[in-house]
Parts: sequence; structure tokens; C-alpha cells
Amino acid sequence: MRASESPTPAERRLYELWSEYCDLEAAEALLEWDQETCLPSRAHDTRGEVLATVAALKHRCLISCELRDALAACAVQAEAGSVLAAQVRVARREVERAVKVPERLKREIAAARSAGLAAWQAARQARDFSLFERPLARMLALRRDEGAAIAGGGDPYDALLDRYEPGSCSAGLEPLFRRLVDILAPLVEAVAASGVTVDESIARGHFPGEGQVELGRRAAAAVGYDFEAGRLDASAHPFCVRVHRRDVRMTYRFQEDDFRPCLFGILHETGHALYEQGLPEAWHRTPVDDAASLGIHESQSLLWENHVGRSRGFWRWLVPHFRETFPAAATFDADELWPALHTVQPSLIRVDADETTYNLHVAVRFELELALFHGELDVRDLPRAWSERYQRYLGIGPTHDAEGVLQDIHWAQGSFGYFPTYTLGMLAAAQLAAAARRDLGGLDAAFADGDFGPLLGWLRERLHGQGRPHPAGELTARATGRPLDVADFVAYLRRNAEAVYAVAPPCGPTP
Ligand code: ZN
Repeated sequence: MRASESPTPAERRLYELWSEYCDLEAAEALLEWDQETCLPSRAHDTRGEVLATVAALKHRCLISCELRDALAACAVQAEAGSVLAAQVRVARREVERAVKVPERLKREIAAARSAGLAAWQAARQARDFSLFERPLARMLALRRDEGAAIAGGGDPYDALLDRYEPGSCSAGLEPLFRRLVDILAPLVEAVAASGVTVDESIARGHFPGEGQVELGRRAAAAVGYDFEAGRLDASAHPFCVRVHRRDVRMTYRFQEDDFRPCLFGILHETGHALYEQGLPEAWHRTPVDDAASLGIHESQSLLWENHVGRSRGFWRWLVPHFRETFPAAATFDADELWPALHTVQPSLIRVDADETTYNLHVAVRFELELALFHGELDVRDLPRAWSERYQRYLGIGPTHDAEGVLQDIHWAQGSFGYFPTYTLGMLAAAQLAAAARRDLGGLDAAFADGDFGPLLGWLRERLHGQGRPHPAGELTARATGRPLDVADFVAYLRRNAEAVYAVAPPCGPTP
């Protein structure tokens, strides 16, 4: 798909207006990055005010009559399937979402978000959900109103989900999650029943922070991250932010007694960054210059973190660098380390969960937020419903609310519909990795030689270079030859469980 060679005045006007919106987004991203990495502690309130002003300016850009006129003119001129038609479709989607939600509701949501975050923090500290119950009920009611305003007569939850995963709906996700739970819960049980425990001491010891960051830097550069178009800094929670295509920043954190969180954190953010750095240059500051969806974004981080970073080939390449960085610690080879990178252990905290149990954590949240939205669950009963589901899916339950329903920030800030994108990302990562392995062959041998170019090239061509004009589902289907499903992900987990825990196949129903 190519941009118009001689843009009409309406098209030029559309890009002019949209580039102002993009520049505000870039300023916002930079302000947020600064807030998380180096803002003086006393400056936080003022930064909040600055960000609120930028958000208001962005909103004004989107709802301006000029932009809507330019879009209407371009819509008339756009030929079906052209890049202009995609630009109009993507821009219109943003504009319509902005126009449909009344200003009053937006302000109420912003206020409920601040109140919700403060109440959530206090409740978490006190390990007492009752302190968060009313602010959460308020946020839920407001988001339901927002969803209803956007959806017209449709499902309000789907309208919120659509913000993160365009084209997705709860009716499509429910069977997917049910299927996944039906397969994963028995797999987790089978691993527990195997009686095998993995010796993780191999990954533990003393690993000075500078060494860990240096190793992470080396890995990021080797897989293709362009340090001339980005940076790596410390922050409390690792993230990746795109200011624009030539400025994609990542952050890390480390713990000195285990090298895994820092290294895999950096590889994860590198996956996000490779996607952003690989978006087509020609679409800079236009509506399609963005990721297709959060699920697709997450698939890129998880592909590099898990399907590359936890592979034997990758470690055959990295072990000599590891030994050079930590001469006292590294006595293992790739095969000895491998089981410690594929453990399965039910736990209470989502962000610490392994690849197998992680989606059970997400399934709990998806089912509960859906029940809340559809009026089948009262906010008051959330802790009880949470514990019940954890017992059912993972065989364990929280002893207090902080390790249960209060652990995530998402609902406090009103991000309903966000959780499912993590699972969609995991499924897509496995399906893309399997397709790339099939198409390219010998990937492990290439990784062992430090050659990650073929895989990156494959992703650039099929995914990164396609930008946002194609719906997420279509992108995965075109890249892998079939629509997104659970098969490759489940096969990957089962292979690992068989190798690490000698769990006999097939453990649970076939996908
Ligand atoms: Zn991520």
C-alpha cells in the first residue's frame, strides 16, 4: 500500500492538521517519559497540570471543524483499498470516539481517576478492599456511560475494548478464554502432580546492576534495536515509549540476586521498540503511523522476550557474553539454564507469573470485569469472586486483598477492557513465532550465531511495515496463514512442560 504520489489539497490539509495532533502526542510522551525517569519529586503536581493541558489540546485538535471538513473531503476522494482510505478510516475512528463522549463525562472520568488511584493506593496499603469499593463503583458507572455513548445501542464493554483492540468483542473473546482455561488449568495441575522441582539457583546469585544493564544493552543491540534512535534508562516500572519513530525509549529495573527480571524486561521492551522503530517512515505524522492494536504490540514484546530470549539458540550466543560480564557467577551452559527459564508455578501476583499460569490470571480479570459491566456482579462482591476463581483456576487464593483484587492499577484508572490484550499478545506471539520458524527454518542455529536479522526481517515485512491500515486480526492471519487461535501457544507450553517436568502428552483437551 503506497501513499498518494500527488496529494490533493484536502489530503495535504488532513496531514497538516494530523501532524499537529501527532506533535502534541510526542510532547505528551516525552513529558510522561520524563515523569517516570528523572522528574524532581516536588514537580509531580505541576507536571499533572501540564499533561492535562496537553490532553485538552489534543482533544481540541480531534474535534475541530477543520479536521472534520478535511476528512469529509478526503473520504469523497479516497479510492477503496488506497492508503488515503485507510488514513480516513483510522482518523475518523479517533474523531468519532472523541466527539461522542461529552466534555462533562470526560472531566468526571478524569476526577474519578485521580480519586480512584488515591483510594486504591490507600486500600492496597491497608490491604482492605472496602476503602476502594465506592471509588471503583463510581469509575465503573462512568466508564459504562462512556462505553454506552460510544457504542450507541451496542455493548459498552465492547466499546472500551475496541479502544485497545480494534474490531475485538467480548462475544468473540469469551469462548477463546474458556478454551484456554480448559486446557491450561489441567496442564498446571499435571505439572504440580509430576513432583518435579526445577533448581532455579542457577539463575540466582549476585549480579551487579551495571553488568545486568550492559548485558541487556548488548542483547537489545544484537536483536536490532537502534540506539541512535532511542535510549535505555532506569525507572520503577519498565516501559517503552515512542516519542516518534526516531526516538523510541525504553526503561529497565534490576534486582541483584536474580538476572532474569532485568534481562527479560529489557528484551520485552526491545520487542515493543522494534515494532515502533519498524513502522514505515513514509507514514510519519499521519493517522496510520501507529501500532495496529495493543495485542499486536504485546505480541512483539513477548515474541522477543519468550520465543527468542528463552530459546536455547539465544543462550548459546549469550552465554560467552554472560561469562565475560559475570566471570564469578556463570558456570552454566544453555541446556543447563533452560529449565529455569520455563518453570510453571501457580502464584498470586500476575506480573510475577510464568508463561503458563499468566493467562489464568488474565482470564480471572476478564471474566470479572465483564460480569461487572453486564451487572452480573456487584463491586461489593468482587473480593469473594476473585478468591473463588483463583481457587478454581490456580488452586490457590489470596490471604488478603493486596495480593488479590487490589494488586493491579488498571481498574483504579478505569482501564476496563485492557487485560484481554495481554492474552491476545501471548497467542499471537506463539503463532507468529511458529510461522516464522516454519518459513525461515534453522532459526535456532541463526540465534546461536547471534544472527537475529532473518527473524526481524520477517517481522518487518509482515507486521511492522504494514502499520495500522490493516485490522489486527487480519495482520496475524496474513502473516501466519490462519486466524488467531490457541493451538501454537498451547503446543509451545506443552512441549516445554514435557521437557522440564516430564508431563506426559496430551495433558488436557486438544485445542
Ligand atoms: Zn508489554
